[in-house]
Amino acid sequence: MKKTHLFAPGPTPVPPEALLSMALPILHHRTPEYEALFAEVREGLKGLFQTAEEVLLFAASGTGGMEAAVVNILSPGDRALVIRGGKFGERWGEICQAYGIDGVPVDVPYGKAVNPALVAAALERDPQVAAVFSTHSETSTGVLHDIEAIARIVRKTPALLVVDAITSLGVMDLPVDAWGLDVVVAGSQKALMLPPGLTLVGVSRKAWAAVERARLPRYYFDFAAERTHLLKNQSRFTPAISLVVGLQQTLRMIRTEGLANIVRRHARLAAAMRAGVTALGLELFAERPSPAVTAVHVPKGIDGGAIVKTLRAKHGVIIAGGQGSLKGKIFRLATMGYADASDVVVALSALELTLAELGYPVKIGEGIRAAQEVLAQ
Ligand SMILES: *Cc1c(COP(=O)(O)O)cnc(C)c1O
Repeated sequence: MKKTHLFAPGPTPVPPEALLSMALPILHHRTPEYEALFAEVREGLKGLFQTAEEVLLFAASGTGGMEAAVVNILSPGDRALVIRGGKFGERWGEICQAYGIDGVPVDVPYGKAVNPALVAAALERDPQVAAVFSTHSETSTGVLHDIEAIARIVRKTPALLVVDAITSLGVMDLPVDAWGLDVVVAGSQKALMLPPGLTLVGVSRKAWAAVERARLPRYYFDFAAERTHLLKNQSRFTPAISLVVGLQQTLRMIRTEGLANIVRRHARLAAAMRAGVTALGLELFAERPSPAVTAVHVPKGIDGGAIVKTLRAKHGVIIAGGQGSLKGKIFRLATMGYADASDVVVALSALELTLAELGYPVKIGEGIRAAQEVLAQ
């Protein structure tokens, strides 16, 4: 017998409340029952996004929501700033390129957060920029960009700020209206505690005005057409019914715990995880670490792939390695969504054993002790 423990930055564990609700016989979506459920989900999403505007839902992975953001607010030949510095920042650039958008990169080295002054300077140099695309929590490097500061800069200009909040919404405070974020993309399989397959997109008033002008081709991901149906508690096409049913449950859990407590819990778990790995003599990769995922340098002389593989094969602990050029150089442990203090201890205990097995000098229990000291505060 082996138990599996999911510490990957997506998909993340799904709580029993959601699993059981999704196991019930399928609802038909063109019914009053579904409409009542969807009405509750719409309200719950407004609370989670801290917005008075509607949050759109599409059956797609998170990248679908990113593509939807691009095609609904821009026109062919438009110029955009693309904050990179990781796989997901780069993805914004790739989507822009696919649609003929002139994406001007703002590059930061992997592991570093973008300096908001760079964004201000780029916007001053080029007032024609129609949109700024950024990641909030860059899952590939474990870095948290300062979206609040970037938003202060962008909202004084005609440009829209489009944020990949896929590993930040439901993890940290992200008041969409108060910060003035224009398009905010989330995904079901991260902090929303659901299986993959649902993307959520918050759209500001400023962004809706751009949607009317935007001329990029779109069909499935059409914000205006989708909103018409959403206002009637419906969706334009067959929704991911089971995921919406599960979302009703996880939004209830989120409301019961309260956003402020959720933010505190994630901050505490990530702090404990960071304390644990550094107590083992390991080095953090991110200079401004995200509370969703902890990225750690693979120590010299140890095979990074073997850490991930041993954790999985011997201990049933699923974590993520590095992506692209970071492959073999870092590993990543998520503390996101349905996670609590005991999960951190499980991950660290398996990590200690794994490192010992691979020949890294580790004093068994030191990581756990440091984490427990943070958790006890
Ligand atoms: C997971 C993730 C995505 C979306 O990836 P999908 O595989 O399309 O769901 C996008 N951005 C970030 C920061 C992510 O962590």
